[in-house]
Amino acid sequence: MLEREAETSADESARELAGELQAAASRSAAKELGETLVLGGGPAGLTAGYLLADAGRAVRVLEADEQVGGLARTVERDGYRFDLGGHRFFTKAREVEALWHDILGDEFLLRPRMSRIFWNGRYLDYPLRGSDVIRKLGARELARCLASYLKARVVRQPREESFEEWVVNRFGRRLFELFFKSYTEKVWGVPTSEIRAEWAAQRINGLTFFAAVRSAFFGNRGNKVKSLIKEFNYPRYGPGQMWETMTSSIEEQGGVVQLDSPVRRIELGDGGGIVAVETESERFEPTAVISSLPLRNIVEMVQPAAPRHVVEAASGLRYRDFMTVALVVDGADLFPDNWIYIHEPKVKVGRIQNYRSWSPWMVPDPAKACVGLEYFCFAGDALWTMADDDLLELAASELEQLGLAPAAAVEQGYVIRVPKAYPIYDTEYVGRIATIRAWLDTIPNLQQVGRNGLHRYNNSDHSMLTAMRAVENLLTGARHDIWEVNVESSYHEIDVAPEQPYRDAPHLNEPLDPLTEAPDVAADSLRGREPQRAHGESARSIRVRPNED
Ligand SMILES: Cc1cc2nc3c(=O)[nH]c(=O)nc-3n(C[C@H](O)[C@H](O)[C@H](O)COP(=O)(O)OP(=O)(O)OC[C@H]3O[C@@H](n4cnc5c(N)ncnc54)[C@H](O)[C@@H]3O)c2cc1C
Repeated sequence: MLEREAETSADESARELAGELQAAASRSAAKELGETLVLGGGPAGLTAGYLLADAGRAVRVLEADEQVGGLARTVERDGYRFDLGGHRFFTKAREVEALWHDILGDEFLLRPRMSRIFWNGRYLDYPLRGSDVIRKLGARELARCLASYLKARVVRQPREESFEEWVVNRFGRRLFELFFKSYTEKVWGVPTSEIRAEWAAQRINGLTFFAAVRSAFFGNRGNKVKSLIKEFNYPRYGPGQMWETMTSSIEEQGGVVQLDSPVRRIELGDGGGIVAVETESERFEPTAVISSLPLRNIVEMVQPAAPRHVVEAASGLRYRDFMTVALVVDGADLFPDNWIYIHEPKVKVGRIQNYRSWSPWMVPDPAKACVGLEYFCFAGDALWTMADDDLLELAASELEQLGLAPAAAVEQGYVIRVPKAYPIYDTEYVGRIATIRAWLDTIPNLQQVGRNGLHRYNNSDHSMLTAMRAVENLLTGARHDIWEVNVESSYHEIDVAPEQPYRDAPHLNEPLDPLTEAPDVAADSLRGREPQRAHGESARSIRVRPNED
């Protein structure tokens, strides 16, 4: 009996040893294949790093910032944790879903979704429901809306080229001004007359004035308004927990994640492939590169320089930028929602996040609320270049104006500027991308992935899926076309369909010179530093002066 047990355990040890030797052999064979460099440590870059390390490939992730996670990172200040914009984890891509659960296990919470529109001191269901709107408008306002609607039916806008004309023709001017104008203009930074009618048609699909009235009186049967997801996953300590856990895993498998390492130069060899990638102080000679760097920047970094028409195409790619002003407010939560949309034209804030509703572990002090006021802007405009103290005061005073909290109750605040938050789909972007893509195809060992890496207005699941396909291309010789990867996403973070909104490219207050955004400037501003004017650290603790107005 004892002998048999001893034999069994000897067999097991031998099998384990053989397994380990085999794994070590395949790891060393993989290492001989050379190192793969991954540029950018956001969701896409880390996914690539994770899968490559897991497969025993030598991999190094170069990240410009001092922390991982990119646009989906969680910032922590004084124990308060906040997203740059609230990040829901929801996907139709099974392999992404499985990876999220593998990484976080029980730390991946299932959270209820609640978000409403805040208008005139009232909360309206989102998406707008006719019966709810009508109940909350009140009889007088409803009569005004009805009169304005009837007028629009008689005197129709002759042309229907803009968002404004499209909506006014269908809902009347009054409803347009109450519910459609203000938020749309905040998000996109141009008047609604500059936004395409097609975009409105795609966006406001399913809601008509009469459907709204009908549902107010006869209930919501047959309502075509699409319902949004009711629950989503969320890491206990915010999305950053996902990326930090992935990073540890890459390192445990022998991979390297190098922070504070902005890539500055990419050298092409005679055969057209990448032979070296350089940061300020180091030079790497990878066999393959997976890059999640913005298309604009990748074109800029390559030496010898890309052809002129490619440089011109890249220089015209635009981005909508974004700022989060997180405020710690004395007292209970201001509202139960994860976030609310602010349709009030009198304030600049577009959305407000309530971090405790995302996860109670985000806010360390039960006696305080922590909210994030989100401002959409263009880098260089008046909002973006405002001093941090002024931004904190603005945010506190807007909370008071909205009746959510007295400015004096705001105890601390932190400003985070987020450049290149939204790749812009303007009238020219399709042609520009086609030009850049044709040139990228001539670099055999480079694959672009991710959101700004493909100039694709996507969620993190799509970014990760593009990285998964790029890794498969490397490991198995598959020939996935990364540009065609699709997760059928219909739940964008600002609920915007992938149709491009702008009639013309928006005017930027301080147009960027072609490709003059040096990578170090981008990295600095990602760390929360003002890129052009010395405002000092923007993510810091400041006592906000009470609003004296
Ligand atoms: C306000 C907002 C809300 C969002 N909400 C959601 C949501 O609810 N759910 C969801 O799934 N997605 C959401 N997203 C989208 C999600 O953030 C992105 O899809 C995702 O972060 C893209 O991942 P990425 O790795 O492609 O790019 P990024 O996150 O942009 O990461 C790129 C990384 O590259 C680094 N980098 C840049 N230049 C260099 C350089 N020269 N050298 C080295 N590194 C460099 C950057 O520092 C960054 O870390 C939201 C986005 C925003 C802006």
